[in-house]
Amino acid sequence: MRGSARIILVLLGPPGAGKGTQASRIAVHYDIPAISTGAMFREAVQRGTRLGRIVQKCRIDQGEYVPDEIVIDAVRERTSEPDCIPGFLLDGFPRTIPQADSLNAMLEQQGQALNGVLDIEAPINEIIGRFSGRRVCPVDGSTYHLVTQPPQQPGICDICHSKLIMRPDDNSDVVRRRLEVYEQKTAPLRDYYRNLGQLREIDATGDPETVFGQVVSVIEALKAQTTPVL
Ligand code: ADP
Ligand code: ADP
Repeated sequence: MRGSARIILVLLGPPGAGKGTQASRIAVHYDIPAISTGAMFREAVQRGTRLGRIVQKCRIDQGEYVPDEIVIDAVRERTSEPDCIPGFLLDGFPRTIPQADSLNAMLEQQGQALNGVLDIEAPINEIIGRFSGRRVCPVDGSTYHLVTQPPQQPGICDICHSKLIMRPDDNSDVVRRRLEVYEQKTAPLRDYYRNLGQLREIDATGDPETVFGQVVSVIEALKAQTTPVL
């Protein structure tokens, strides 16, 4: 990586705002892995791994957070894999101040720093509409929306042709709890990163392509500010 900087980005924002949708596009455009802690946990539960068994006890299907130490260890392990050498994008991590402190410490140890934090925000009525129409593939994790991003064949995954489902934590009671937990534990990260000069707000109200246009211009500006790592 001599002479070129890694790209290290965080996507912040309430559940349902559209982080995963933008993360997939960023990953393709910049050729870096998008690491979603939520997706990692769902996959671990599905595969019945040791992490999955621990996570299952944390009631994530009820909107509760996984304890910091477990999330931090999982992210440390994942980001030390070879595909993260050119950089990576974290979607849904950090979600608490101790997680953000650990990420800073982790990157500092490697002589790296975050390029920036993209705060994906949409009005609450829009978020509720996105939750209620969200459908996911239980096999490959791809995401659709009944109205705004429908699959080619109703109810069927475009990629692997499995039957799409609604995430159990997308039902209205759990959504209420998730938004509450987000406000308590994660929203304070906005000020945390604003104070570090790293927060960039993205208005996620428009369609995914329009939002992605904003995302790319913000990332390009962040990259231009970064001193190359020699
Ligand atoms: P969303 O896409 O709706 O924001 P995610 O897929 O990112 O949700 O996360 C699903 C669930 O996994 C969260 O509601 C939470 O229970 C758990 N989770 C994901 N990331 C973290 C984290 N960084 N810290 C604690 N819990 C997490
Ligand atoms: P998050 O990862 O923040 O929880 P997702 O990316 O999974 O959010 O998006 C939530 C739902 O909203 C999905 O069904 C997705 O297809 C849809 N969606 C995402 N971005 C937009 C957008 N800009 N306009 C309309 N619908 C969107």
